[in-house]
Amino acid sequence: MSPTSLNFASALKTAYEASLKHLDSLDAAPVAAQATVAQLRAQLQKPLNTSGLPADEVVRELVRDVDGGLHGNAGGRFFGWVMGGAVPASLAADWLTSTWDQNAGMYAVAPSAAIAEEVAGEWLKELLDLPRAASFAFVTGCQMAHVTCLAAARNGLHAQRGYDVETLGLSGAPPVRILATAHLHSSALRAIRLLGFGTGSIEYIAVDEKEQVRADALCDALARHHGEPIIVILQAGEIHTGVSDNFTELIPLAKAAGAWVHVDGAFGLWARASEKLRAQVAGVELADSWATDGHKWLNVPYDSGYAFVRDREAHRRAFTQKAAYLHANNENRDQVDWNPEFSRRARGFATYAAIRQLGRSGIAEIVENCCRHAYAITTGIGKLKGARALNVPCLNQGVVQFLDPRAGATAEDHARRTEQVIERVLASGEAFFKPSVWKGEKVMRISVCSWQTSDEDVERAIRAVENALQSFD
Ligand SMILES: *Cc1c(COP(=O)(O)O)cnc(C)c1O
Repeated sequence: MSPTSLNFASALKTAYEASLKHLDSLDAAPVAAQATVAQLRAQLQKPLNTSGLPADEVVRELVRDVDGGLHGNAGGRFFGWVMGGAVPASLAADWLTSTWDQNAGMYAVAPSAAIAEEVAGEWLKELLDLPRAASFAFVTGCQMAHVTCLAAARNGLHAQRGYDVETLGLSGAPPVRILATAHLHSSALRAIRLLGFGTGSIEYIAVDEKEQVRADALCDALARHHGEPIIVILQAGEIHTGVSDNFTELIPLAKAAGAWVHVDGAFGLWARASEKLRAQVAGVELADSWATDGHKWLNVPYDSGYAFVRDREAHRRAFTQKAAYLHANNENRDQVDWNPEFSRRARGFATYAAIRQLGRSGIAEIVENCCRHAYAITTGIGKLKGARALNVPCLNQGVVQFLDPRAGATAEDHARRTEQVIERVLASGEAFFKPSVWKGEKVMRISVCSWQTSDEDVERAIRAVENALQSFD
């Protein structure tokens, strides 16, 4: 071993062994972190050290001190929020990304990182069946994918009106109107704030009983704002129901009015990867920009989102740091032209490796299995005494509620019961769910995104809820 690897060996070996131990423990360990805030502070809070410590000791203590505060979302029984696990090749590539420590801002600074990203970007467009000429960016998550796409929209809509927003800013520009629904994800709201549109620029459009945008309501809004720069935000996969908007009908209406159509497809866009499910997102390819995640359904470690933009030039103009003459002579793709960051992690490697490990069929299989499992968990819980399925998944998202059995129990009583059941399930360590509010009611949301979830995990999750319900008797 060279002297350099000797310096690293003990720390990396400790990390490697702790990693395997963590992964092997997921089946038996509590899924929900069991430590309290006070316990975690007591474990992790230390005085700032004056002198350094041996690397392997630091790593060993870190592993020890985070104990009890890690959720088991890398395993198969974590159904809270919308969170995936990490497939092995992708996790390994993520480790190597840190080892190689490439600064993936530009080709010149990190050549292989630039090319891996270029290749993986093309693969993603193929998998998701988006326009092959669309530009893309690998960002930290769907949050920054929204920022990236909507910055491109800001540039594109203003450029059409002969206004250079990159130079002149927004203050003299015609205000952009944003049409979206009340279930717009909070990350999109924040993108709207960051880009200077302001949430006051949003006009909310009515949805039907399936929570899909109503075509008549969209037409009315488009007509009311005729001639203004308009962004329409549609949804592929709503977080409670997994329902997608009717893109085939809506997008042509918006485009005919000159609007830019952006799609939040954080997880729902992955229905495109399955022959069985893709009809749910038919027509989504007609949009102008798409935001999605790798760290949800593709099961890439965190720090992985993707932005795709139909109008490459609007996208490039919104981000490039270089003079046009430099760009024209460039045969390679520099991420800095498409991404909001400058120095950045070479996050393309993990995506590259996940796609290589799974292939088209493996990705379709994960997506389809998650949907099957979400259906089984939701209907399985729905059949239990004291439970009710409010939304049976069409995709990977379900909604259930628990009922206070007392005669004359109020909505508040049912809400309390729902919270209590969730708390008891979490305390059992057998499965992880979170409460939410849906159509005005307190509910438990079921989200299945992990490649690890098995039929046995589904059984265990249902049994955990059944036990929690029986504990009230
Ligand atoms: C998770 C999610 C987001 C935000 O994505 P991040 O990766 O957390 O930034 C946006 N929209 C929807 C529908 C989501 O599920």
